[in-house]
Amino acid sequence: MPHNTAPSSFLISDPHSYANPAAVSVHHLDLDLTVDFTARTLAGTATWQLSNHAGATELLLDARALTIEAVTLDGTEGTPAAFELGPDDAVLGQALRVTIQPETTAVSIRYRTTPGAAALQWLSPEQTASRTQPFLFTQSQAILARTWIPCQDSPGVRFTYEARVQVPAHLLPLMSAENPQARNPTGNYTFRMVQPIPAYLMALAVGDLEFQPLSARTGVYAEPVTLPGAAEEFQELENMVTAAEDLYGPYRWDRYDLLVLPPSFPFGGMENPRLTFVTPTILAGDRSLTSLVAHELAHSWSGNLVTNVTWNDFWLNEGFTVYFERRIMEKLYGRPYADMLQVLGHTALLHTLAELGPDSPDTHLHLNLAGRDPDEGLNEIAYEKGDYLLLTLEHLVGREALDTFIKDYFARHSFRSMDTASFLSYLRQELLDQHPGLEEQLQLESWVYGPGIPAVAPPVAAERFAAVEEALQQWQHATPAVALNTTHWSSHEWVHFLQGLPERLSTAQLTELDNTFGFTHSGNSEILAAWFPHTIAAAYEPAEAALHQFLTHVGRRKFLVPLYRALLATPDGQERARRIYAQARGNYHAVATSTFDALLGKPAE
Ligand SMILES: [Zn+2]
Repeated sequence: MPHNTAPSSFLISDPHSYANPAAVSVHHLDLDLTVDFTARTLAGTATWQLSNHAGATELLLDARALTIEAVTLDGTEGTPAAFELGPDDAVLGQALRVTIQPETTAVSIRYRTTPGAAALQWLSPEQTASRTQPFLFTQSQAILARTWIPCQDSPGVRFTYEARVQVPAHLLPLMSAENPQARNPTGNYTFRMVQPIPAYLMALAVGDLEFQPLSARTGVYAEPVTLPGAAEEFQELENMVTAAEDLYGPYRWDRYDLLVLPPSFPFGGMENPRLTFVTPTILAGDRSLTSLVAHELAHSWSGNLVTNVTWNDFWLNEGFTVYFERRIMEKLYGRPYADMLQVLGHTALLHTLAELGPDSPDTHLHLNLAGRDPDEGLNEIAYEKGDYLLLTLEHLVGREALDTFIKDYFARHSFRSMDTASFLSYLRQELLDQHPGLEEQLQLESWVYGPGIPAVAPPVAAERFAAVEEALQQWQHATPAVALNTTHWSSHEWVHFLQGLPERLSTAQLTELDNTFGFTHSGNSEILAAWFPHTIAAAYEPAEAALHQFLTHVGRRKFLVPLYRALLATPDGQERARRIYAQARGNYHAVATSTFDALLGKPAE
């Protein structure tokens, strides 16, 4: 694109960024950082190459909890520039205003992070799997990149980057970029990202990490004690990439590697380009939880290639990704398997809808998150209602027509941003308008701008769950657990079974189930997360230690939120939840603690 005109996505204003990319935007970053584990800071320089579309004399960047030391124009040795940090907003942070000339090509900012850098989690050796070295990782989505890099922190702004990172020589740094596969004795590493990405995909991890290849273009990084199991768990990675390419076109990011993080990672996964970050809670030993990897991989198209222009359009990232994820799983493991994932997702959607209420605007696909922290406003709706819209579309136009549409959509909008209104007009033009009456039948507007689920949505079912529902019936009609036919059940059947149990179970019932199926000592995090709400409600003592261990070691918010809520709903729950939280908090990332500080109150230091 010529540098004198701004892309049309810059005309959509982002309520979560101070930047004004329509006037002047950034297009390349040179980052120079030193990682100091003793001080727990990153310090260095960010040099931004500018595209000044409007002859602007001020560059606006987002910054939060950063110490800005100096700003220069046209090189780190260039002219000192006037700059100013605006008022500090608890969610957005501060606007960093730099005075520039219309002909200024680059701005360099010397800065350091502070303990308030919410993207960063600094782990002590005891908080890692190997327990010998410290660990650092970032989580930049949704608007936390600005806590470790002064940037235009809006998903509509893309840039390429190069980075030089200095770490202690015995540790390995990795980024969302071309990565090293082995340590070097200097601790100095360079990274290159040649495909333009938005700031929320900036990522860095530093730890005692090793690499194992899985195919010519895929591999896995993990701490040495975790690596063999992880490599075993992710054997299908190349097949997943191939399946994804068969569906919706070539993988555009060269390598696809995974990084297994320590258990405090707050999410299941984060789709950092070229290097997906994943929670170790999917290492189940039987490859049963790898749909999460299919999800993060699918983001290499929906999200990373075609990106929501603001967080209000988040469903464009997540709805497509969930649909795509299940199509990958279907290709690898068959329709009956993928149908189970669909039903489990649907169950989660119904829970969220019930929780938010029938008229909640937070159940619209297009959201209004202005004035709120996007991390708190984003929920299951974008994922599962977004997927359900695509599933309904598939039901109405047929799979072949929908697949052609999606494949073209990705190809034609690669490395660009998309907002909801533009997507709807593209959908009408490319698909709906060719079928008279289809838009009314689909009830498109009410999916996107209305609450709940439109009546047109087809029912969701999984044949493999029929046996589970039968077992549930039998058990509730006095068939002993030991007599139930549960052979060949995967963890998905078990989760469906646990979710289908009555909410109130007696200690005798829990004891029978536990003695027969060994839920309390399951090595599968999804099974544990579905089991504990029952044990919490009944104050089932034999699960107490395992629950405590889970809550103090796992930082994945999806598991923790329902468990803390279940605790709070019991008679002595307030006090107990707070006590456990006080012990566990130091092990949670800031995106989890901000949720739980609101739910439970911040414990006294
Ligand atoms: Zn996702």
